[in-house]
Amino acid sequence: MQSSAEVLIIGAGLSGLATATFLKHKKPDISLLVIEQGDHPGGAVASHIEEGYLAEAGAHGFLDNSLESRVLIHEAGLDEEVEKAPLSKFVRYICLNGQLNAIPQSPGKILHAPLVPLTAKLRVLADLWKKPLPDEPTVAQWVKHRFGKEILPFADAVFTGTYAGDINRLKLEAVMPGLHNMEQTYGSVLKGAVHAGLAAYKKKKKEGKKTGLPAMTSFKAGMSRLPQAMAAKLTPNKEIMYRTVARSLAQVKGGWVVRTGQLELHAKHVVIALPVNSCLDLLAYSELPPPPLAALPEARIINVALGFPDKGNIPFGFGYLAPEKEERFALGALFSSQMFPARTPEGHVLLEALVGGRRHPERLELPDEEIISRVYDDLQQLIDLPDPPVFSRVLRPNYGIPQLEEGYLALLQWRQRLHANNSTLHLCGFGWQGIGINDMHKQAWKMAKRILAGYQEEQEQPQEEVKGVYF
Ligand SMILES: Cc1cc2nc3c(=O)[nH]c(=O)nc-3n(C[C@H](O)[C@H](O)[C@H](O)COP(=O)(O)OP(=O)(O)OC[C@H]3O[C@@H](n4cnc5c(N)ncnc54)[C@H](O)[C@@H]3O)c2cc1C
Repeated sequence: MQSSAEVLIIGAGLSGLATATFLKHKKPDISLLVIEQGDHPGGAVASHIEEGYLAEAGAHGFLDNSLESRVLIHEAGLDEEVEKAPLSKFVRYICLNGQLNAIPQSPGKILHAPLVPLTAKLRVLADLWKKPLPDEPTVAQWVKHRFGKEILPFADAVFTGTYAGDINRLKLEAVMPGLHNMEQTYGSVLKGAVHAGLAAYKKKKKEGKKTGLPAMTSFKAGMSRLPQAMAAKLTPNKEIMYRTVARSLAQVKGGWVVRTGQLELHAKHVVIALPVNSCLDLLAYSELPPPPLAALPEARIINVALGFPDKGNIPFGFGYLAPEKEERFALGALFSSQMFPARTPEGHVLLEALVGGRRHPERLELPDEEIISRVYDDLQQLIDLPDPPVFSRVLRPNYGIPQLEEGYLALLQWRQRLHANNSTLHLCGFGWQGIGINDMHKQAWKMAKRILAGYQEEQEQPQEEVKGVYF
C-alpha cells in the first residue's frame, strides 16, 4: 500500500510530536503524518500510576526557562494542568561524607558555605588565567584543570543527575557546548559567566521578565500528559499512525520513501525524530554517507518508587544526588511528593530513587526485592525513615540515556553535513544536541523552521546557549 504526505515524521516521542505541533501551529493546513512503532505516544516519557501514587519511569519534569516548551504546553491546551516547583524554593542536596548537604543557591552563599575548603575556593580563581585544554577534554579533565579537583564531586553530581553519566567519559564540548564557547571567547569561564549573566539580566529586565531561578515543571497527571495531549491534536490514521515501524529510508525523485512492514510512505520531507541509536539503525539501510560511529553508549537507570507514611521527617526540598566517590547504591533520590504534593494517597510521601547509570549497569540485573531493600538501606542512612515503605515499585524504563562521549562530536558534524546536503531530511531526537526535554523541543522547533523556511543553517551559525547548571 502506498501513501503520501508533505512531511513524514518518524517517532511519536516528544521530539516527533513537538515537530508536528510546531508545524501545525505555523501552517495549520500542512499535510503531515507521524508514525510510531508502539501503541501509544511518549517514548521515553512514561508516567506510572498505582495504588494512588504517581511516579515517573522516565523524565520527571523540565525547567520552565524554554520558550519552545511554553509554546508547546499552550498549543497542547495544557496551561491549566501545569504543576511547578520553583528551584528557588526547593532546596537541593548533595551527599558528601555520608551526609546530605543543602546546596547554596547564590554566588554569595556559595562563597560562605563550608562545603569546600577556602583554599579550594581560591583555587577556582585560577580559571581566570588557565589556557583551554587541547583536543576534546572530558568533563572531569576540564573541571580539574579550570577549577581544581575539589570541585569534581559537584560536577559529578550534576552529570549523574542529568546523564546518569560518568564525568571521566562525557566530553565537555558535547554536554556543555555553551561553556566551551565561553572559554574559547573570554579565555575564562568566570569572566564569560559575568558577561553572560549581566547581559541576560539586562535583557530580562528590559523585557519585563522575571529574573532568578527557573521552576521544575510537570503536569497534574504526570509527564505523559504532554505527549498524550499533543498526539490527541492529530487525526488518527491520517496524521498519526501507531504500530507502524519505519524499516528503511530511501531518496527518490521529489523526496523520500519510507518502508514499514506493509506501507510505502512517500514524503517531500522526512523528520527522523528518534534516539540517536535508533536513527543510526534506520539509516544503516540507506544510501546516505555512513556515520563515523555505529552507536553511542547508553546509560540505563531504574527508578525505585517508595511510599512512606508522612511523619514530617524527609528534609524539605527537591532531592539529592550522590557523587560516585560516596560509593552509595542509589545515584540519588527525588522527594517527589514535596515538589508535586497530590501524587500520593492522603498522609503519605513518595520518594523516587535512581539506580544504575553508566557506572553501574550490573545493578540493573538484580531482582526487584534486592533493589528495593538496598535502596531502603541506603536512604535510611541519609534520611530519618523509621518505617519500611508501605508502597514500593521498581520501574525499569525501556530507554537508555545517550552518552555524549568519544566520537560524539564527529557524529554531530556528520549530521550537519547530512543536513547541508539534504534540505528535506531532518534528524532530531534523544541525544542529538542534548538529552533534556527542553533540548528536544528546541531541536524540534529548528526542524520545523527548516521545513517551513528552507535550509538556513549555512548562513546562520547559531551561538550555543549557555545553560544554567542546576543540581
Ligand atoms: C530514565 C530517563 C529519565 C529522564 N529524565 C528526564 C528529566 O527528568 N528531564 C528531562 O528534561 N529529560 C529527561 N529525560 C530525557 C527525555 O525523556 C528525552 O529527552 C525525551 O523523552 C526524548 O524524546 P524523543 O522523542 O527524542 O525520543 P523518544 O522518547 O525515544 O521517542 C522516540 C519514539 O520513536 C519510536 N520509534 C523508535 N524507532 C521507531 C521506528 N523505526 N519507527 C517508528 N517509531 C519508532 C519509539 O517507540 C518512541 O516512541 C529522561 C530520559 C530517560 C530515559
